[in-house]
Amino acid sequence: VNVDVKLGVNKFHVDEGHPHIILADNPNINEFRKLLNACPANLYKQDAQGNIHFDCAGCLECGTCRVLCGESILEHWDYPAGTFGVDYRYG
Ligand code: SF4
Repeated sequence: VNVDVKLGVNKFHVDEGHPHIILADNPNINEFRKLLNACPANLYKQDAQGNIHFDCAGCLECGTCRVLCGESILEHWDYPAGTFGVDYRYG
């Protein structure tokens, strides 16, 4: 079983309107690119036109983006409130 399949069985409770991670207005693009491969949930993306995309739904709360890039790309990073966030099914 590959990682994508295993990640697919996790459940996420999204706190609509209160994202726990918010990108900075002008994220440093070189820093952002580090996360194209580093985010284990593959939530940081860049399309063929070079536009960057991020959606915090599906976040595994690992903290990699915060440690790797911090304020160079992030306006806000916190754990989801209360019962929101990832619900691991494996381990
Ligand atoms: Fe991706 Fe981890 Fe950052 Fe969540 S905390 S967006 S899974 S790198």
